[in-house]
Amino acid sequence: MTKAAEIDLASVSKIYGKSTAVDAISLKIPAGSYCCLLGPSGCGKSSTLRMIAGHESVSIGDIRLGNTVVTNLPPAKRGTAMMFQSYALFPHLDLIDNVAFSLKMAGVPTVERRARALEMLKLMQMDAYADRRPAQLSGGQQQRVALARALITDPEALLLDEPLSALDPFLKIRMRAELKKLQKRLGITFVHVTHSQEEAMALADLIVVMSDGRIEQAAAPREVFERPATAFVARFMGDHNVISGAVTAAADGGVEIAVAGGGTFLVRGEAQSIGAPADAAIRTDHVRIGESPVKGLGFTGLVTNVEYRGGTVKLSIDGAGVEDFTAIVDDVSFFSMPVSVGDAVPVHWDASDAIVLGRPN
Ligand code: ADP
Ligand code: MG
Repeated sequence: MTKAAEIDLASVSKIYGKSTAVDAISLKIPAGSYCCLLGPSGCGKSSTLRMIAGHESVSIGDIRLGNTVVTNLPPAKRGTAMMFQSYALFPHLDLIDNVAFSLKMAGVPTVERRARALEMLKLMQMDAYADRRPAQLSGGQQQRVALARALITDPEALLLDEPLSALDPFLKIRMRAELKKLQKRLGITFVHVTHSQEEAMALADLIVVMSDGRIEQAAAPREVFERPATAFVARFMGDHNVISGAVTAAADGGVEIAVAGGGTFLVRGEAQSIGAPADAAIRTDHVRIGESPVKGLGFTGLVTNVEYRGGTVKLSIDGAGVEDFTAIVDDVSFFSMPVSVGDAVPVHWDASDAIVLGRPN
């Protein structure tokens, strides 16, 4: 069980009636990688996954798995397996028969399919429960059975739609680690739909951030986090302040952006035409407070909220035409010089911490 296949979407759209749920997306998911489709509810993640699985027809475009164009193949002929959000286990069957179900459909003889199902349950450390029914299991155990059932067809790619959403927060984190281990062990391609940026960061080799049926950015987690491509990505990933304004001048290695009725900031990135609207991202955890700012790399504002978080303190600051600017400062530096709501504080950052964001076409 070490075969893995690249998944290639070429300008794929899904149109339901008059509405476009997935809008001409192109994406290559490398063989053997862990890919997360990430975005808010309704952005087209499940539709994309279901088109890869063959549970939804492709309106326009093509999907390739390895060397095979699978666009018009039925699900069972694609080399993919899908695990659904609700697990969709059969309540009246024991675990062996649940896991063996697709082999039964394929006409595999009873003795062989029961043996293979038991092997799969062993892989998921569920063999001790083989003769139980799904209702006699915890959420995490049901999830393992659903995984065993999906993997028994020996797929080249496993497709998971919000597989952790039904679990409580503690179990979610444990099962997340198990999924990652399982993917490494099997070496097959995983495509996992989630709306949690934390989950995607923890799991993925490749994060595909989607909005409104389109791909905003597809890159490794660290790149998505440190170099968000658009204001949407920066906001969705959190941990960035997004400042919007207009380009007023070209600067060394970047541009100067003026916020309407407020400050002027120096931002790294491609020079854009003077007068063009522009967005910039500034990492919340790289903002420092208390020192007087270098021109263009900070401002003085009023503290509107202080949130203690243990190792860090979150400050909200209004000033220079920017509302709700966030600074995450470590507890030691905060308590060496605490500030309160209503105080005027200077904030600043390094030149490399303010970057120009791309704008969707
Ligand atoms: P996500 O998984 O990101 O929440 P979906 O792919 O489920 O998004 O849905 C994308 C859009 O397509 C939504 O606007 C949704 O209402 C619509 N949609 C999804 N499935 C259907 C369907 N079977 N018929 C009509 N519209 C659908
Ligand atoms: Mg969905």
